[in-house]
Amino acid sequence: MITTDILIIGAGPTGLFTIFEAGLLKLKCHLIDALPQPGGQCSEIYPKKPIYDIPAYPEILAGDLTDKLLEQTKQFEPGFTLGERAETIDKQEDGTFIVTTNKGTKHHAKIVAIAGGLGSFEPRKPKIENLEKFEDNGVEYIIKEPELYRDKKVVISGGGDSALDWAIFLSDVASEVTLIHRRNEFRGALDSVEKAQELKKSWKNKYHNSSGSKRNFRN
Ligand SMILES: Cc1cc2nc3c(=O)[nH]c(=O)nc-3n(C[C@H](O)[C@H](O)[C@H](O)COP(=O)(O)OP(=O)(O)OC[C@H]3O[C@@H](n4cnc5c(N)ncnc54)[C@H](O)[C@@H]3O)c2cc1C
Repeated sequence: MITTDILIIGAGPTGLFTIFEAGLLKLKCHLIDALPQPGGQCSEIYPKKPIYDIPAYPEILAGDLTDKLLEQTKQFEPGFTLGERAETIDKQEDGTFIVTTNKGTKHHAKIVAIAGGLGSFEPRKPKIENLEKFEDNGVEYIIKEPELYRDKKVVISGGGDSALDWAIFLSDVASEVTLIHRRNEFRGALDSVEKAQELKKSWKNKYHNSSGSKRNFRN
């Protein structure tokens, strides 16, 4: 049985910063995460993507942000149960809780904080015939290592923050970046939208839009 003051389910940025705030109150934390490493979406989905909206960091890679959060919380000596999913929570007669993982590890705490974010990650795949044939072979849903795209022609499908951030970043890495979006407007932060529109004018970047993602992908 692992005993702690605050048991945090989810070791993403929210869970990690909770260690710091709890530490200031002299409360010890133990975190459970289904992933094998802390950092949540930042370390699992986009460790090498730059983030532009963290106070005091004009630009920081998501993986580096995770490292900084871990460094900041180290002084409070948190415990981790990684690679295990919290499955059941049982309230005891004295008001404390026991949380058990899928591997049977039991954790006992007075307080349970749920910082589960989006839960488990699964890409929302477009309906494109034979798409699975090209997965991990040219078609990716997550960019973990942008260097893989150096001097290559890259097509990004999407018009939200992630698509725009990567289009902007990869315009310095890839030989050509094509952004395909099914609407006329992007859904990202205004500044990123402006930057992407600027890049559109340069020779390296193209932008297509039309309805029907199937046709877009083949263009
Ligand atoms: C591609 C992409 C780009 C992004 N870019 C930016 C950006 O530039 N700027 C920005 O501000 N935000 C960005 N975001 C959003 C940002 O990543 C999230 O807002 C942030 O990760 C939320 O942190 P969190 O700790 O609340 O949750 P998460 O990061 O989702 O972490 C939750 C953790 O809980 C774990 N978990 C859930 N349920 C259980 C369970 N039952 N048992 C054990 N573990 C569990 C998960 O495994 C996960 O590790 C981006 C997101 C994506 C996907």
